[in-house]
Amino acid sequence: MKTIGCLVACWAISINLSAAIINGCAVELQIAEQSFNNLQKLLEPGNHNQANRYAIWKHYLRVKKEIKQVKECAASTEWLVGLFSRVHPQLNFEISNLTDLNGNPIDVYLQVLGNHQMPHAVYGSTGLRQVTGDPDKPESKFGPGSIVVKIKHCASASMIKYLIHELGHIKYQIPNLASYLSFFRKTYGQEGNHEFGHHRDDPSNQSVRYELDRYAAILKNKGIRAVEYIKLASVSSTEE
Ligand SMILES: [Zn+2]
Repeated sequence: MKTIGCLVACWAISINLSAAIINGCAVELQIAEQSFNNLQKLLEPGNHNQANRYAIWKHYLRVKKEIKQVKECAASTEWLVGLFSRVHPQLNFEISNLTDLNGNPIDVYLQVLGNHQMPHAVYGSTGLRQVTGDPDKPESKFGPGSIVVKIKHCASASMIKYLIHELGHIKYQIPNLASYLSFFRKTYGQEGNHEFGHHRDDPSNQSVRYELDRYAAILKNKGIRAVEYIKLASVSSTEE
């Protein structure tokens, strides 16, 4: 298995190779480590009076704790990004070429989060937000032209299935962002409607069904159960 050290050092390289899916936690880890280094410098003797020093020290401890959590997320995410590229190279390729309605490439960031970092009974999610002044272009915390997919850490075969589910959503939603959000507000706007994204007439839900069926067909063609297929793909991942 790859080490954390390699993950940290290699994330920029994998982004430059236009990876299908970007490790969102590795990006956050780099930012957190930069912040940690800056705070360490600020804590050097003589840099601040005692009151400021206490506030910086508290911030320093918070970032230190955050780094531990983000490192775990970066390692799990790196694992899932690699595994998915072996399990479903075709969908991986399609996601790497995902564009908005106007043909602009969209970066897909993945984050594999712990139980406490996602709501109970939610195993995958995406967030749809439009760039101000450009309703066809999505944006996320990683900037304009990007989207985040979050998957809860669990068994590998389940994570792959949840990931395929979320990618099914965004494969439809991103190239149809403005019209889809208008449909979404109309369909799910009323109070008490908890179907969010899964109404039978929702084209994004139909895209999810299509992707899950396509994955089932891959398994059927190979004559293998999902758990066994993932186990084989995991082994080839650790042998790299
Ligand atoms: Zn869904």
